[in-house]
Amino acid sequence: MLSIEADKNIIALNTLGFNAIAEQFTRIASEDDLLKALQYAQLHQLDYQVLSGGSNVLVDEHIPGLTLHMQVMGRAVLKECDQQVLIRIGAGENWHELVQWSVVNNWQGIETMALIPGLVGASPVQNIGAYGTELKDVLVQVRAWDCLAKEFVELDNSECQFAYRDSVFKRSKGRFIITSVDLKLHKRLAIEFKYQALKDYMHKQSLANITLKDVFQAVCEIRSDKLPDPVKVANAGSFFKNPIISHSQFQQLQGDFPKIVGHPSACSGVKVAAGWLIDHCGWKGYLASGVGVYPKQALVLIHTGESSIGQLMQLADDIKQSVFDKFKVQLEIEPQRFPSVN
Ligand SMILES: Cc1cc2nc3c(=O)[nH]c(=O)nc-3n(C[C@H](O)[C@H](O)[C@H](O)COP(=O)(O)OP(=O)(O)OC[C@H]3O[C@@H](n4cnc5c(N)ncnc54)[C@H](O)[C@@H]3O)c2cc1C
Repeated sequence: MLSIEADKNIIALNTLGFNAIAEQFTRIASEDDLLKALQYAQLHQLDYQVLSGGSNVLVDEHIPGLTLHMQVMGRAVLKECDQQVLIRIGAGENWHELVQWSVVNNWQGIETMALIPGLVGASPVQNIGAYGTELKDVLVQVRAWDCLAKEFVELDNSECQFAYRDSVFKRSKGRFIITSVDLKLHKRLAIEFKYQALKDYMHKQSLANITLKDVFQAVCEIRSDKLPDPVKVANAGSFFKNPIISHSQFQQLQGDFPKIVGHPSACSGVKVAAGWLIDHCGWKGYLASGVGVYPKQALVLIHTGESSIGQLMQLADDIKQSVFDKFKVQLEIEPQRFPSVN
């Protein structure tokens, strides 16, 4: 039976810790629950939106319609051989716990994405990534309810149209509701580091044989030192995407700011460290009216309580404007408005 809660405060279900009242709220523990919830929404002519761990959303104070909280659980090995394993993970599983499970089993591919908050079903939405690895590197297929075609569909890796912090799920807002994700992980690959900071960190440990567990622990230590734990300091991780600019604009900026941080981007151009830009506009450690910029990482905006989403968005606008005024670079906000705005 579908259980609907009215006027539910989802303050505990968004890591920025804003008060937000969901007009109607239900937990989705299976595909059958999802179908029932969608029928209910249709019958009562309600809009609906999907919430997972709430670590990448900017919640409005009032959320009309039906909020679907994804809790579809399950981990299964679908296929296994000497080299690889194919696993199917329910959308409601915790991402970090999945990474732990893969490391315990010595399956390689997602260990550098340890400690990313949130649930598995949201991981394809922005093609999560960290330390040189993105979800697209290991994802085989996604199973989702297609709200347009009104049927369950399987989308393979190319159909997901992954890009930097982007996918078909993000672009076609609300069309797909993901219920499970299939990943291919490796059993016998040599450990390589695509990200220099992690490579340097591992080098300093002077380990004879680096294991997946060592990489996992290193990532957890580096992240814990650099990023605030949302349980202690409300935040949504990186608030802005790293902007991709042309080589010529980057060279011009290098002339004025020789220490500017940028890396060649996979899709041509240069990916500039947004945190560096914000830091060099003097925002790091800023705090006023309960919203501010994390003192150890300028890319992370924080909420210390008793503030509103409006005040946070005003701060984001002020930061964007000052970065544009100084560097002529446009920042784009990474977390999604909830409910989404078209
Ligand atoms: C401290 C911190 C560190 C972070 N570090 C990283 C990082 O290193 N790399 C990175 O990529 N991200 C990072 N993030 C962002 C965030 O953790 C990821 O984007 C994560 O995948 C969001 O998962 P969630 O379950 O919280 O999704 P939510 O915030 O609940 O949802 C995000 C969006 O996805 C949609 N959605 C959620 N579930 C589904 C579903 N089943 N089907 C369809 N749509 C769905 C929602 O409607 C919403 O638009 C960080 C966040 C925090 C707070």
